[in-house]
Amino acid sequence: MPPLIFRKGLDLKNAVAGQLAASYHSQLVDRVKASGYRYESGRLTLHLAREFGFCYGVDRAVDYAYQARTRFPDRAVYLTGEIIHNPHVNDQLRALGIRFLTDPGHTLDALGEQDVVILPAFGVTIAMLEDLSSRGCTLVDTTCGSVLNVWKNVKRYAQDGFTAIIHGKYWHEETQATASQALQYPGGRYLVLYDRAEAALVCDYIRSGGDRQVFLERFKNAVSSQFDPDIDLARIGLANQTTMLSTESLEIGAMFRSAMAERHGEDALERCYRAFDTICSATQDRQDAILRLLAEEPVDLMIVIGGYNSSNTCNLARICAATRPTFHVASPECLLSQTAIRHRDVAAKNEIVTEGWLPPSGPIRIGLTSGASTPDNLVERVIEMLDAFCNPIPEA
Ligand code: SF4
Repeated sequence: MPPLIFRKGLDLKNAVAGQLAASYHSQLVDRVKASGYRYESGRLTLHLAREFGFCYGVDRAVDYAYQARTRFPDRAVYLTGEIIHNPHVNDQLRALGIRFLTDPGHTLDALGEQDVVILPAFGVTIAMLEDLSSRGCTLVDTTCGSVLNVWKNVKRYAQDGFTAIIHGKYWHEETQATASQALQYPGGRYLVLYDRAEAALVCDYIRSGGDRQVFLERFKNAVSSQFDPDIDLARIGLANQTTMLSTESLEIGAMFRSAMAERHGEDALERCYRAFDTICSATQDRQDAILRLLAEEPVDLMIVIGGYNSSNTCNLARICAATRPTFHVASPECLLSQTAIRHRDVAAKNEIVTEGWLPPSGPIRIGLTSGASTPDNLVERVIEMLDAFCNPIPEA
């Protein structure tokens, strides 16, 4: 029997609305928004980005997960992995009894018709979807529409004989799912590249060729099987993981366009080069909002809240770190004290503790934003802690 797939929720939106509000909403954040995204208290002035926090895709995915739990109280409900990259939200779902196939003791091989499986906002690979379907599991598909839009473009590239060049992280679930779309057609190919440096290597190869083996070794985890750079870079189509730094994606697109024009001539571009900007609007809005905040407000430092493995959060931190001391924190607990903060170092990409992060006296202006997978109640706790650190109650 074909599996039952829920793609538009489970008709329980109202039933779970209260639970979602209690778990993730914040009245304080609502008040800060209503006050021009500004919070003032004692020596602290805090500027909140105009766009931050849960995006439409995450909102919907979390909503569907709660609906699934409510609809199937007596059945095992699984997630293929993290529903979104926020530890707080994932722990809340574990607390509801939703099991994660990536947690120890759970395996896809044990699933059958009796089980319900939630597919995350960034989607799953075609192979995983086929596996779950063949087991007859009931599926709750929360794949975001913006991710589906990328898949549409990548599928079209493959259909038309173009290799998909994906600006993304080959180890990220969304990019793995996107890359798998290219393989649906005979001869479908993909190559994933992470940044400008990797794009420059590929562009050099397009322009003047190079050592095929060195190329394949460099991208061994990031290309489809049987990839041959001497053949498969002749017709290319660009796409992005939806949460990359949009300025970098655009730059990479321009680099490839220029390399293809040099190799094949401007007149041939229509036949050998395609590009679609597939950064999602929520990612773009959050990046634009932070650029605006940095340009308009004289903030002394930036706090970015979100999971360390959240691509869009890391990119917000990269933008901030270009001009301000920036502390990317995974949760409010990372604000250890008035003198110490635990955070992900933007350049080194590891977690460190920095001492003396807050000026001990005088006015202080802090900019604040959060990634698309960070709920407002975490932002509220950070605001409260900043207030307490900046304006400690004098001891009696
Ligand atoms: S970041 Fe963009 S693509 Fe990802 S879930 Fe949110 S809206 Fe969808």
